[in-house]
Amino acid sequence: MASKEPLIITGKEEMRRWSRAARAEGKSIALVPTMGYLHQGHLTLIRESLRYAEAIVVSIYVNPGQFSPTEDLSTYPSDFVGDIRKLRSISGAGVDVVFHPKDLYGYGRSNSSKIDENRSEGEVVSCVEKSGNGHETWVRVERLEKGLCGKSRPVFFRGVATIVAKLFNIVEPDVAVFGKKDYQQWRIIQRMVRDLDFGIKVVGTEIVRDDDGLAKSSRNVRLSPEERAKALSISKSLFSAKLAAEKGQVNCQELINSVAQSITKAGGKVDYAEIVDQENLDLVKEIKSPAVFCVAAWFGNVRLIDNMEINI
Ligand code: AMP
Repeated sequence: MASKEPLIITGKEEMRRWSRAARAEGKSIALVPTMGYLHQGHLTLIRESLRYAEAIVVSIYVNPGQFSPTEDLSTYPSDFVGDIRKLRSISGAGVDVVFHPKDLYGYGRSNSSKIDENRSEGEVVSCVEKSGNGHETWVRVERLEKGLCGKSRPVFFRGVATIVAKLFNIVEPDVAVFGKKDYQQWRIIQRMVRDLDFGIKVVGTEIVRDDDGLAKSSRNVRLSPEERAKALSISKSLFSAKLAAEKGQVNCQELINSVAQSITKAGGKVDYAEIVDQENLDLVKEIKSPAVFCVAAWFGNVRLIDNMEINI
C-alpha cells in the first residue's frame, strides 16, 4: 500500500475538531506522543499503534515543562522535515495527523509563552510569566515520580504527566502508545490514567535497540563515536545481569554492583542502577517476582537511560 501524507496540525482547537470528526466517522484514535527527532524506536511505536486504532496521531512537541534549567532543552535535537519524511515512509495505513503545536503553555497573551530564563538552578521550570494569567496547574503522580529518574530530575515527571494529560485532553485518543524504554514514564502515565479516570488504553512497547544493543534514543546523536562505544557497557552489562538472574543470581546488590562496575570501568558516570518491582517501582532486594533493572548513566555530556525486564 502507498504511504500516506500526514496532515500537519499546529492549533489545539483544530486538533480537537479533527479528532471529533474522526470519531463521528466511527474511527478510533491512537496517539503516539514524541519529542521528535524520530528514530526506529518511535517508528516501531507508531507501527504498533496501527494495531489498536483506525486513525493515528503522532505529536511532536519538545515539552519545556519537563526540563530543569540545567538540562538540555536548548540543545535537544530536532529535524521536523526529516521527521515528516520518516513518517511518510511508514507503509500500510500510516499516520493521519502530526500534531506539532508551537507552545502548549501560552494562553493568548503576547508574553505568556516565554520560558523564564532567570530561574535559579534546582528551581522548577516555570513555563509562564511570573505573575498574571499563566499556566499554573500541574499533574503529579506523587509516589511513582520520586524514585529512579525522579531523584536527579525532580521536575521531570511533573512536566511529563502534565503535558500528556494536556495532549489527552486535546487529541482525545482511545489509545496512547508509549515505549518501555522510558519505563518509569510508562508506569506513571498508566497510573495517572487510572487515578484520573481518563478513558484511554495505555500500551507499552518493547525497547528498540541498535544491532549492537544500544537502546535507540534521540540523544545518541550527541555521543562521539568513542562515547558511543563506551555507552555499550550499559546494555551489555544489563543483558549479563538478566542472564545471571535467570541462572539463579537473585541478590540485587550483587547484580547492581556488577552493572555499576562495568559502566564505571568503561568511563561512564552512573546516575543510578536499581532493581525495582515492575508494577509499583518499589526497590527489590531479592528478585522473586517480575522486576526491572533500570539504569541511567552519563557518557560525556549525554545522559542515557536503559532497562531490562527480569521475569523469573
Ligand atoms: P521521546 O521522543 O524520547 O519523548 O520518546 C517518545 C516515545 O518513544 C516514548 O514513549 C519513548 O519511550 C519511546 N521511545 C524512545 N526511544 C525508544 C526505543 N529505543 N524503543 C522503544 N520506544 C522508544
